[in-house]
Amino acid sequence: MAYKITDSCVACGSCIDECPVGCISEGDIYVIDADQCVSCGTCAAACPNEAIVGD
Ligand code: SF4
Repeated sequence: MAYKITDSCVACGSCIDECPVGCISEGDIYVIDADQCVSCGTCAAACPNEAIVGD
């Protein structure tokens, strides 16, 4: 199951360089490509806002 970035995201950028497969992209809030996510949880641990959740 892919991880997901919720509305709590403030687009601070803390997660984007942490993803080992580079599947987080920038927008108004950040978005995870569910097809590429390997559900490692690295981004969730890096988020200061607890905005990234597992499905
Ligand atoms: Fe990337 Fe892992 Fe977060 Fe999925 S769970 S978006 S693979 S850092």
